[in-house]
Amino acid sequence: MPEPADPRPRAARSPRIIPTDLPHNAFDQNALRVVSRLQREGNEAYLVGGCVRDLLLGRRPKDYDVATSATPRGVKALFYNGRIIGRRFKLVHVRYGEQVVETATFRRAPERSEEPGEDLLIVEDNNWGTAQEDAQRRDFTINALFLDPYRREILDYVGGLEDLEAGVLRTIGDPYVRMAEDPVRILRAVKFATRLGFRIDDETWDAMVEHAPDLARSAKPRVMEEILRLLRSGTALGALRMMRKCGALRVILPEVERYIGPHDSADPADHDRADSVWRLLEALDSLVHEKHMPSSAVCVAALFLRIVEREVDLDPRTHHGERSAREVLEAASERIDPFAVEYRLAKRDGFKAARAIALQRSFTQPQTKRFSPLLFARDPDFPEALELFRLRCSAWGQGWDVYEAWRERSNEAQSAPPEVVELERKRKRRRGRRRGGRGGSRDSGESRAESPSHSD
Ligand code: ATP
Ligand code: MG
Repeated sequence: MPEPADPRPRAARSPRIIPTDLPHNAFDQNALRVVSRLQREGNEAYLVGGCVRDLLLGRRPKDYDVATSATPRGVKALFYNGRIIGRRFKLVHVRYGEQVVETATFRRAPERSEEPGEDLLIVEDNNWGTAQEDAQRRDFTINALFLDPYRREILDYVGGLEDLEAGVLRTIGDPYVRMAEDPVRILRAVKFATRLGFRIDDETWDAMVEHAPDLARSAKPRVMEEILRLLRSGTALGALRMMRKCGALRVILPEVERYIGPHDSADPADHDRADSVWRLLEALDSLVHEKHMPSSAVCVAALFLRIVEREVDLDPRTHHGERSAREVLEAASERIDPFAVEYRLAKRDGFKAARAIALQRSFTQPQTKRFSPLLFARDPDFPEALELFRLRCSAWGQGWDVYEAWRERSNEAQSAPPEVVELERKRKRRRGRRRGGRGGSRDSGESRAESPSHSD
């Protein structure tokens, strides 16, 4: 397959217009409604971005985006179900029940001074433009195709069709400039390349490597959103390996990189540790392929599980007996809390992730007088803990019978009569008092059920 031509010279010309043979029923009816209404009112309007890319690849689009010459106010005026959202990037959400058709006005790239050394980071992006300008400010050529579902035409300003056919991911314009403008594009490149199985164009890759350190300057919630998307993509394993290779992992998840070592490490201990993390990510991917979306807490717990486990194992205190669930919780929180604060992860998700790690021992601990399986299975954090346990079973290929037994127990526990639960709580409190401590300080699964303050 010949290398696709450089899109840049062509980008300045009028678009390549290619008829499409996609059947009418390939398009989402609500997206068609939006395009049709906008066009009838004399605006330009197209399907754009991920949905066009996915339709042409024969994949089912996640959602539908529309690009139009109408301003957000103009769009809103046409749709009673339309709402203007966003500040940095204003657009209209046209809502049909649960579905939202994102309708954005054509924009041009923000003005930049030509001063050398100028900071390229984009902070404001509301300059209206033409369809061509709108194509050029997008990230990758395959994400900048416009599709007119009524004329049945694709407008290609950037060479996206050729790249789509060749399976190449390439930035629009100079990759060094585009990555410097918005380093989150590095994570987006990783996401699309791994999800679609595309090769990253060499120059685009070099720019990713060069600008990976700039990810430290990107808006934290955007970075977090991309991390979670990657973890839930079904190709988390490939994505994290690629992030490690291009240097992004070191910047955004330094703890994880420290644990597994750099991609060119020759240390066998690094290899073993990396292998254990890859196994968990592979398990996460299988979960997604089974159409089971892991929660944010479970994704974060999977990232930090091995790090915490190692710390607990290496701690000298463990030589004098096992550490309590509370101590494991502290170790997990020490790792996860700073990460959660830095990336503005919901506090609750950070706490649930730490607790899911701390509760792992409870699944295999022998039944004791002080451990109530019923209360453990009713703990508010039990579902995340069980899901993490499932990942561990899948990663190490053992413990499935234990997992199944707990799943069953959990179903039973949910339907347990309230008086049985109350009796169990009283019994546990009594045992706790008899031992002179707060009930369940070692079996945190139960204590959370009693103490919703998360104080364990
Ligand atoms: P997905 O299937 O994951 O939703 P997508 O291509 O639709 O993929 P979105 O994040 O939904 O990605 O963004 C929609 C479109 O907006 C993209 O296809 C791209 O054209 C443009 N876009 C999104 N993020 C950026 C960015 N950081 N820089 C430039 N263009 C972007
Ligand atoms: Mg999308």
